[in-house]
Order: sequence, then structure tokens, then C-alpha cells
Amino acid sequence: MSEIYDVAIVGAGPGGSAAAHYLSLRDFNVLLLDKCTFPRDKTCGDALTPRALRILDDMGLLDDLLKVGHSLTDVAFFAPKGHSVSAPVPLKESRTDFLLFIPRLILDNIILERALASGAQFQSPVRVTDIVQETQCTVIKGVHHNRTVEFKARMAIVAVGANMKLLFRMGLLKKTPQVMLSARAYFEGMSDMIDAAQCRFDGVPLPGYGWVFPLSKSSANIGAGFFRTGLSARWMPLAAPRTALLAFDAFIQTPPLQRMLRSARQVGPIKGYPLRMDFARSPTFAERVLLVGEAAGLVNPVTGEGIDYALESGKIAADYLTRMFSADDLSIENLARYDQFLRERCQRLLVLCDKLRFLYLNPLFLNRVIHSMARNEDLMTLFMNIAIETRTRTCTKDSLPEQFRRWSSDTIKVLHSSNEGRCCSWPTPALTGTR
Ligand SMILES: Cc1cc2nc3c(=O)[nH]c(=O)nc-3n(C[C@H](O)[C@H](O)[C@H](O)COP(=O)(O)OP(=O)(O)OC[C@H]3O[C@@H](n4cnc5c(N)ncnc54)[C@H](O)[C@@H]3O)c2cc1C
Repeated sequence: MSEIYDVAIVGAGPGGSAAAHYLSLRDFNVLLLDKCTFPRDKTCGDALTPRALRILDDMGLLDDLLKVGHSLTDVAFFAPKGHSVSAPVPLKESRTDFLLFIPRLILDNIILERALASGAQFQSPVRVTDIVQETQCTVIKGVHHNRTVEFKARMAIVAVGANMKLLFRMGLLKKTPQVMLSARAYFEGMSDMIDAAQCRFDGVPLPGYGWVFPLSKSSANIGAGFFRTGLSARWMPLAAPRTALLAFDAFIQTPPLQRMLRSARQVGPIKGYPLRMDFARSPTFAERVLLVGEAAGLVNPVTGEGIDYALESGKIAADYLTRMFSADDLSIENLARYDQFLRERCQRLLVLCDKLRFLYLNPLFLNRVIHSMARNEDLMTLFMNIAIETRTRTCTKDSLPEQFRRWSSDTIKVLHSSNEGRCCSWPTPALTGTR
């Protein structure tokens, strides 16, 4: 009879490997599967937020990551009109009050190695094609070098990121959710780099943003992402780029990017990948199955950060499974508690960010707010909390400053008065100073 693992985890990204680490530490028999052989690349901006760093620290990885990553404490926001403001990461007096940038080729391998050192077993390349239930266990079916393979486990964790094929096959997704389209490339030998991560709303289709995330003083991960569907895409001019690669191309042709890239060399191809951000509508469990990370739509809808949520949900899934195993209760009712906990923890913030994206990622609002942030510390802290720290308790619609609410109502008026709901020109707020 084939071995029955306690937990089989599909996907060895940050979510799957974090879950594997925490479960293996507690002596569960864990099998981790991935369709790729590691180290493998993952299309990403490579930014780790303080939230992500907290879990990586808890996993005992922070010191190693600091040796290979590039850390920064400031984020510079560039308005559609080009003026900018630099904001520091809010200090919480912890050892993770900064941002760290590490190519995913390196990061994901370090996290996987940690899981293996804790006792998890890893098999790759195994492309999982289906997960079905038997009376006493769950069966994970896949393909390994053109041969079909099967693994049995008492429980399964699905951590496949934005790859939705398996979820459709399992009936967990019925239609393709709204995604952010994005693309990135690496550059070396860059000029005029500033000592901050750059989030740029100039030269990209809105709602969306472009980024220049430094990996050293002269190299960076540069990318652009935007939404083409959903309510928030009504802001986009009809002539805006229609694919991630076109948006990326337009972004790097803008004068500020051309200045930075004048003597730079692109390293590797430009890669595009979608980003799921539909946690509010996504299932997080099924019979003997838990979903973690982006497979559950857990990504910040304003910024596109998902590594932090993947790590957090991987740890939470491990905690829940540990409790379920010790209570010897693997019922679906018990699994529903995981869903309830995740929703209590993340739903309010992620739904708020979804709304913020619709109301605020437009030229009218961004030109104003980035101008005002330079003089208003509360506004700066709020913006940073949304952008990277994402505090769950204090950030609600009612806690937004009066200015935010007034500008939102201006935004809605413009949306209503624009032709066919698309905004091709914007009233320009009076701006002075900071460029
Ligand atoms: C362009 C871009 C920029 C981004 N920038 C950032 C950023 O700067 N910071 C940030 O925090 N987040 C960023 N994100 C989001 C972030 O990359 C993801 O949210 C995060 O990787 C999710 O982690 P995960 O573990 O859930 O899934 P993933 O990291 O996607 O890992 C999933 C794993 O599952 C494997 N897999 C998939 N399907 C199967 C299958 N059927 N069988 C076996 N294995 C399978 C894959 O090979 C992969 O290794 C960005 C995303 C994109 C596309």
C-alpha cells in the first residue's frame, strides 16, 4: 500500500513552503509538490513588506535574507503629473520596519530549503491535475515526466498561486476572477537611482502603477501592472495599452525611466503574469482541502502584494491543521473555521482596498493626494499603511481623513459626468511646489 502522508501541499511558493515548514516542525509527515524544479523564477516585483518579513523572521530566515537582499526604508510616490513625495516605512519598533528586495529565484528557494530542513519531503516536477476524495484520505493526481502519479494524504493544501487550472478542475472556481495584468524585467547598470522604492503613477494606465524596485544601487526590478476589467477600469482612457507587455513598454519609454535606463542593460526577458485579488469571493476550503495565498485570492488589491498574505495564510493553515489533527476532527465544519478566521483577519481590509482602488487610483485624486502628503503627516502615514503595512483594525472607510472623503465624492462626480463612464480628460487641481 502506498504511503499516506499527513498533509500533501501543492505548490512550493511562499504559501506552500511556509505551511510545509510549520507542519514539519510539529512532526507531521508532509509532502510538498511543485510543477517546477527549484530554484525557479516567479514573475514578481520582488518586494517584501514588513508583514512578510515578520513571518520570515519567525521562520528563522531574516538574517540570511538580509545577506542577499537590498533593504530600503523609504517609498517614493510619483503622481500622474510627475511630482513626487518620499515616505518612510511606519516605525513599529520592530526589527522588520523596512522593505527588502530579493529576486524570487533566490527567495523562494531559501524558503523551500527551510521547509525541507524542518523535515518536509519535496517532489518535482509534479504537475498536479486533480485532487479527489476517498473515504479515509484525499488523492492527489499528477504528471511527473509524462507519467501519471498519485499521492495519498489525510489533508491537502492547495498553494498554486494564480494558476487556476487545478481550481477549475476541482470545481472551486466557476469563472475566471478579475485579475491585474502585469509584467516586469530586470535591469543592471542603471543611472539616477534614488534611495527609495519607486511607485509611479506617471506613464502607466490607471488604475494601476509602475514600479522601480532597487535590487542594488544600480540594478532594479522594473514593472507595470493595471486593471482592464471591473468597475475601476472605467477610469482608463480608451487609448490605454491593452496588454501587460504594452503597458510595460510604454512605461519604460517615459522620460524619467529613459533617464534611469540610459546606460542600463536588460537582464533576462520581460515576463508577464496575472495577479488574482478576489479573496472576498474566493473559496478557501473544500472537503479535506485548504487553500492558501494567491490560490485563495489573497493579494492586496491596491498594491498587488501577495507574498506577505501567502506566508501568513500558510502559517495559519498549519496552525488550524495542527489543531484539527490533535482533536482528530478533519470535518468540513472544522475547516470552515479556517475560512472564518481568515475573513475576520483580512476581508475588511482587502474589500476596503478594492474600493480604494476604484475611487483613488485615478489622476484627479493621485495628483492631489501626492501633493498634499508632503505637508500632511497623517495622510502620509495612512497612504503608507495602505501601501505596505496594511493595518487591519484602524483602517476603515470612516477613519479616512475628511480630505480623502471629499476627494472621493469629487471623483464619483467626474465618473458620473464622463462619457460612457470613461474619463479621457481630468479637471486639474491647482498645484504649487514639490516636483
Ligand atoms: C508582476 C507581479 C509583481 C508582483 N510583485 C509583488 C511584490 O513586489 N511583492 C509581493 O508581495 N507580491 C507581489 N506579487 C504577488 C506575488 O507574486 C504572489 O501573490 C505570491 O507569489 C503568492 O504566493 P503563493 O505561494 O500563493 O503562490 P506562488 O508564489 O505563485 O507559488 C505557486 C507555486 O505553485 C506551483 N504550481 C502551480 N500550479 C501547480 C500545479 N498544478 N501543480 C504543481 N505545482 C503547481 C508553481 O510552480 C509555484 O511554484 C506580484 C505578482 C506579479 C504577477
